[in-house]
Amino acid sequence: MTDKLTIGVLAVQGGVTEHLRMLQSLGVEGVQVRRTEHLEGLDGIILPGGESTTMSRLLRLGGLLEPLRAAIQDGLPAFGTCAGLIILARTVLDTREDAVSLGVLDVTVRRNAFGRQVDSFETHLPFQGIDTPVDAVFIRAPQVEALGEGVDVLCTVAGKQGDTVVAVRQGHVLGTSFHPELTSDNRVHSYFVEMVRDQEQGGVG
Ligand code: GLN
Repeated sequence: MTDKLTIGVLAVQGGVTEHLRMLQSLGVEGVQVRRTEHLEGLDGIILPGGESTTMSRLLRLGGLLEPLRAAIQDGLPAFGTCAGLIILARTVLDTREDAVSLGVLDVTVRRNAFGRQVDSFETHLPFQGIDTPVDAVFIRAPQVEALGEGVDVLCTVAGKQGDTVVAVRQGHVLGTSFHPELTSDNRVHSYFVEMVRDQEQGGVG
């Protein structure tokens, strides 16, 4: 397929430019999404890391929450990293009472789940569908604590209490607890771009 893809990066708050850089490295056009009209014509969307409670508030205030939810429910491929994963999730633990999420990924996530001592760390993790371990940066990361039907685990990290789920996929929705965009390893983004291409081919038209 030679059609050029356009992937949006939600730009109401958080680490936007690193995702745009990743997309550029893959020859994909990246555009910032701040308002509802920016959703038009997108082939996929990335929700970056940042602060999920702030992002939630700004999405609500800006009127983008419902249109974004509808677009993803209608089949727009989405990829959330860290706070972005929290925003995609159905259920969020340890958050503010007034925080809202999109509920388009059937998982329960717990915010800031790795504890204060290990606020941030970098490691290499095997990732389903990518042949060698990926470079993963964790910053006050959430963990996935429960999975709905049809959610696949793509990546786990070993911890004191056993393996913790840190990357999941449910059809056209992908989420990672960590930040691949803060590394020089663009293979998780490449994995998402393939999901977008698959969706294009499977779609009508
Ligand atoms: N702890 C942040 C939150 O709950 C996420 C951190 C991140 O995106 N790096 O939103």
